[in-house]
Amino acid sequence: MSDTWDARTEEYSGDVRLAGSHATPVGLRGAEDVFVGPDAVAGTLRLADVEYVFTDVPDGDSDGASQGDGDGVSEKARVATEVTGDLEDGYVEDVDGDVVVSGVDDVFVAHDAAETLDPAGAEQVFHDDAAAPTGSPDGYDATVTGWNHSRDAVDPRDGVAVRGAKNEVTVTDAKHDLTVYVVGWENEVRIEGRGLDVTVFFVGRDNRVSVGPYVSATTASESGFDNALDADPLPPEAVIQTSKEEAHSGTTFGRHRITWQEPAPDKDWCPNCGEGADAVITRRQKDAFFLFGSAIRTYDSGGVSYECERCSRHVAGGVDLSEQERKDALR
Ligand SMILES: [Zn+2]
Repeated sequence: MSDTWDARTEEYSGDVRLAGSHATPVGLRGAEDVFVGPDAVAGTLRLADVEYVFTDVPDGDSDGASQGDGDGVSEKARVATEVTGDLEDGYVEDVDGDVVVSGVDDVFVAHDAAETLDPAGAEQVFHDDAAAPTGSPDGYDATVTGWNHSRDAVDPRDGVAVRGAKNEVTVTDAKHDLTVYVVGWENEVRIEGRGLDVTVFFVGRDNRVSVGPYVSATTASESGFDNALDADPLPPEAVIQTSKEEAHSGTTFGRHRITWQEPAPDKDWCPNCGEGADAVITRRQKDAFFLFGSAIRTYDSGGVSYECERCSRHVAGGVDLSEQERKDALR
């Protein structure tokens, strides 16, 4: 590799992917956004001139700025290959050396993306080191990289990894705990299933993860802003053991005492336990003489009592959510 100032310039148009074929250090100049994947840079990722950087890699030794040998300008110029042109987005996947990014709006840096990060030329850096994912997100079994892709997955075992913008991943029938690792902006992930914990990492902005009512989910870290994790409320049906129709189905002829439960949609708190609740139901009973399923004479229609997902002994169709899981599911 020559270490001259005469960088070889390679021009591309549209999206560009850096994956091993360029002499290093590689300069990437003039893309809109740049997404740097896990284990993408075997060296230093230097951000010479970018606006926002959302990074799961911490700022490298801060002495990079105080060593005094680099004035930024010369550092920026010292590349063996410069990749530029009429570029849209850049995807840095596998580079065997240093990478210098310049003239870019936003850069999104995944877990373990580079050995060292030097964000000295970034206007603003977003980094949250509250937690790290277990295992490289590139090894997850439901992975999407790019722009505007959508993917469905049934019961993935390791996790969901999304990198890019405006992608959609829908997981159904999930039963195993999942890590959801989202890098970029305006991505959407939906998880439906039963009895699992979802751990979410956001690197970027305006991403959304939503989970169904029987899934508990927490945000482990957020390197960015305006990301959302939403959980569906538990539906009243989860607390209903016998519906009105079921109770009446055995009443063709004669006197019966029947009980059933039905949703109480006008209640957002539970009259029985006094807690705020999503799934308030009323427990009803009737002692009557029935003909073809209709009560033609009622002896006693009892009082109305209420229950909710917190105080009912029957929750979630027989699935036994622990108290903590119930609370998590309701967040
Ligand atoms: Zn209650």
